[in-house]
Amino acid sequence: MTQQAKVGFFGGVDSVTGSNFLFEASGKRILIDCGLFQGDKFADDRNREEFGFDPKSIDILLVTHAHIDHIGRIPKLVREGFKGVIYSTPPTEELTNIMLMDTTRILAHEAVADGRPPIYTERDVLDTMKLWTSHEYYVPFAITPELSCEFKDAGHILGSAMMFLTLNGTTMVFTGDLGNSPAPLLRDTDSIKGVTYLLMESVYGDRNHENRDERKEILRKVITESVGRGGVLLIPAFSLERTQELLFEMNDLVEHHNIPDVKIYVDSPLAIKATEVYRRSDKYFNKETQHIIKSGDDIFQFPRLYFTETKEESKQIWETKGPKIIMAGSGMANGGRIVHHLKHYLPDSNNAVLIVGYQAAGTPGRMISEGAKSVRLFGDDVQIKATVLSIHGYSGHKDMDHLLEFVEGGKDTLKKIFVTIGEPKSSMFLAQRIRDYLGLNAIVPSPKEEHILDF
Ligand SMILES: [Zn+2]
Repeated sequence: MTQQAKVGFFGGVDSVTGSNFLFEASGKRILIDCGLFQGDKFADDRNREEFGFDPKSIDILLVTHAHIDHIGRIPKLVREGFKGVIYSTPPTEELTNIMLMDTTRILAHEAVADGRPPIYTERDVLDTMKLWTSHEYYVPFAITPELSCEFKDAGHILGSAMMFLTLNGTTMVFTGDLGNSPAPLLRDTDSIKGVTYLLMESVYGDRNHENRDERKEILRKVITESVGRGGVLLIPAFSLERTQELLFEMNDLVEHHNIPDVKIYVDSPLAIKATEVYRRSDKYFNKETQHIIKSGDDIFQFPRLYFTETKEESKQIWETKGPKIIMAGSGMANGGRIVHHLKHYLPDSNNAVLIVGYQAAGTPGRMISEGAKSVRLFGDDVQIKATVLSIHGYSGHKDMDHLLEFVEGGKDTLKKIFVTIGEPKSSMFLAQRIRDYLGLNAIVPSPKEEHILDF
């Protein structure tokens, strides 16, 4: 017998951030992700608004991965009455705890500046983690007798999963973010063969990553030139995945003597904590990386690499003479220690900034990457004399062609595709390409829109 399900779009439409979708089926109200909206400040004013539903009415929350734009409003959901179960993979649970604790610190800081209370505190994060249950990849679990969920690899960051929700034998997939496979550490994104409905991301729906295959060679060149100038190379890097990928690549470059000797700093308590989780999660890595680890190489440790956890250690980086590389968060330079380093090093033409990830509209990272002559940091206009470089190949997201190829994997059975998690022009462009090239029904939903689907 055909049943109906309803899908609602409460965040992650018209924008890359704030992912929040509602799936109602088999008498259950299931949220998929509950992310923070992010803009020029770490947290946007939209995060203070009410959810478009009653948090008390939600039975289950499924979490695709531990990036803040997918998890950052969960403690608010809990604070406002959600008492259901939260499911994710084990690494996502562990990384979420670290990420949310760090977020409370930033929110508290912004709240002081705003003269308003923070949207949640550590107490709410502790309450949140009590509701958590993890499941491994590829082990389906029942939500009701007729509705099940299975996590398959999205290949985006450690623990990232696509949610395969199957009702009466018909499957809908919520992708979360989709990785730029093949990635240095992670397994490839799983296929969506046999899937009927798809809700997918489109961050790079209208662009390709030009230098994906040459990313390591470009990294080698950028480092070598920077050391040659005697300058400082700043890399604003996301604490999850990007930092660990870069360490893995640098480990290889250093051990094969492909770059000159240079001090490399990971100057982020958050990235340091996340790297510890990566160290003990090698079972989720791809076969090649598992092989390297089994042969005895510590992929996150090499000569002249320093993890500077405390403020004192961080401050000493400026005192150290000679060329150096500093990796620090946040990845879009809208918070974290990288802002101090940018303020200090941007006005000197000997230095360079290497952009390795997506930069949301309105962030300092976006302005720097788009060639601005100055940028406002901590209330001051800072001249940009340093060279600004980008390697798109390290993006954690599939590009335009690979998103299309991913959809093509489900071409025979797909009936409807919701293109979300992207800036409007990117989502529209991808939806149009899916219609034109694959002849499938792809739409870009608007905020708060609801769709009924047959199962
Ligand atoms: Zn993500």
